[in-house]
Amino acid sequence: TYTLGPKITNWDDSRKKWLQQNPGFRSIVNRQARVLLVTGSQPGPCDNPIGDHYMLKSIKNKIDYCRMHSIEIVYNMAHLDKELSGYWAKLPLIRRIMLSHPEVEWIWWMDSDAFFTDMYFKIPISKYNHHNMVIHGYPSLLFDEKSWIALNTGSFLLRNCQWSLDLLDEWAPMGPVGRARDEAGKILTANLKGRPAFEADDQSALIYLLISNKDKWIDKVFIENSYYLHGYWVGLVDRYEEYIEKYNPGSGDDRWPFVTHFVGCKPCGGYGDYSLERCVKSMERAFNFADNQLLKLYGFSHRGLLSPNVKRIRNESIRPLEIVDQIGVRTSLLEGA
Ligand code: UDP
Ligand code: MN
Repeated sequence: TYTLGPKITNWDDSRKKWLQQNPGFRSIVNRQARVLLVTGSQPGPCDNPIGDHYMLKSIKNKIDYCRMHSIEIVYNMAHLDKELSGYWAKLPLIRRIMLSHPEVEWIWWMDSDAFFTDMYFKIPISKYNHHNMVIHGYPSLLFDEKSWIALNTGSFLLRNCQWSLDLLDEWAPMGPVGRARDEAGKILTANLKGRPAFEADDQSALIYLLISNKDKWIDKVFIENSYYLHGYWVGLVDRYEEYIEKYNPGSGDDRWPFVTHFVGCKPCGGYGDYSLERCVKSMERAFNFADNQLLKLYGFSHRGLLSPNVKRIRNESIRPLEIVDQIGVRTSLLEGA
């Protein structure tokens, strides 16, 4: 049967020893657990060139958020394991990164089609001190309804520890392309509410794993829904003007969604559930909505949520530091660091 690699059994001890022997690498920086955001895309160009443009916007958006919050980034374009292609590629990648970066405490996976839309929301990382996985979802959808959208694997955190390696080991076997993935797809469709018939995907496989072996895993899984660690784009992108009018960034919730995830859009190529035009337009809105929060620091704003062009929002000053002091949000971010 398929495995991600040689079975590792003593990771917590070996990692701890390594950290003691390498004091130059710290898993806690400025009293915060070290977080590494991992994302990526397929090795080749998109079938549709517009997709590459949105891949670029998406990584710019992530670089901006991560710079503001002192989070490091890995962008991967290699298929580390031919068998785990497509949406399954994140599993061998996350494992590889964990083992190669013992100094990193949390790996944060984020899909290429997910955008940060609240640049000022900070993940409440110490809230998860007693958990090893943080994922957006709803416990009742998971355990009562067994819904295939109870959780979303487009944006989640995994602690660098033995528990996570064990989880990845149990998660992966439904992934190998071909017979294993096709057969597993049938099991998932038969067991999960609302799931169409198709090959096994990583999200359904995780849901199935947690349902089938609840006692083993659930204590260490934090199912988060107090803010949008993942937010389904339909229902969010048309409300950006409303958020701007009524609220301010920083809450990450219904008043200003933290992440807008373009589930069902495939602007890079292939068949999506929505028209390419609607997806691209909505991504443009999400990107500009987020980018405005940043451009504000520099005195600019997009001409509209659909415009890549910008306009000035204040006059140039001969005393630029006064403006730096006025932009309170920036200092509040630094204080949090
Ligand atoms: N992905 C990757 N390499 C690939 C294919 C996908 O890194 O060859 C990543 C990419 O970030 C993507 C995520 O895996 O967003 C989920 O894959 P999926 O096919 O579900 O794409 P999505 O529908 O999220 O764009
Ligand atoms: Mn996605």
